[in-house]
Amino acid sequence: MKKCLLAVLAHPDDESFGPGGALARYAAEGVDVHIAIATDGAAGSVAEGYEEARGKLAEVRARELQAAVAILGGTLHTLGYRDSGYINDPANQHPDAFINANEEEAIGRVVRLIRELRPQVVITHDETGGYFHPDHIFCHKVTVAAFHAAADPTQYPEVGPAPHQPQRLYYTAFPNTFVRLVVWMMRLRGQDPTRAGRNKDIDFTRLGLPPRKIHARIDYRRYWEVKRAASAQHASQGGGTGGSRGFLPVWVQRYVLAYDTFIRAIPPAPDGYRETDLFAGLAD
Ligand SMILES: [Zn+2]
Repeated sequence: MKKCLLAVLAHPDDESFGPGGALARYAAEGVDVHIAIATDGAAGSVAEGYEEARGKLAEVRARELQAAVAILGGTLHTLGYRDSGYINDPANQHPDAFINANEEEAIGRVVRLIRELRPQVVITHDETGGYFHPDHIFCHKVTVAAFHAAADPTQYPEVGPAPHQPQRLYYTAFPNTFVRLVVWMMRLRGQDPTRAGRNKDIDFTRLGLPPRKIHARIDYRRYWEVKRAASAQHASQGGGTGGSRGFLPVWVQRYVLAYDTFIRAIPPAPDGYRETDLFAGLAD
């Protein structure tokens, strides 16, 4: 059995800033890694020094994404939707925005990928989207529906070569232990943790899950540089500057935090369950 993994994520950069370490590790270990990105990222804010990229952001981000996925070692697929922007962003009103897309049709696009690639493992955002981004939440809904529909011959009968049931579904998620440390450090520095991020629209106090809800921890210490290099390709999004982890010394990030973490949704895992390989126990 050739191991195959499909990650369906909302934006150019979610693959690198998110589970990039795990994706790089699986690609290096010979797994067929496929990365499907739903939107063009055109509604993202731009990092300082990238103001001139504003008008052609979709183009800039497509190039950044290609470079990042090449470094991670996966195959890139794009679903071709327009980025919706964060909560209350006027970009949410755009008729072509991902969150305004026809849901059945969007599910069909992911069903096609699942039936063509035939992965054992599918990864997407969790139902909070990590930080409540509407595109992440919609991507979650669409991917979960497609995970089931792909196996059902009565659904989308015209799509793909044959039905296929992936064996496992994982959601990207992180434990709140680190988030609580960041909140504590922000308060120490006199910063407001409820208004964080470049757009001051991220509430750090609502992020992350209790550690017992995290089922899989993928060690990517050996691929730390790969994830960092892929993230750095997303320069228009401040890639490579460390994000919230920039608070901590590099050695801490590299040796203590170099784990990508997931909820195992299917088959469901109990609280406190721990695994270190998304493919563990699958038939060879
Ligand atoms: Zn995103």
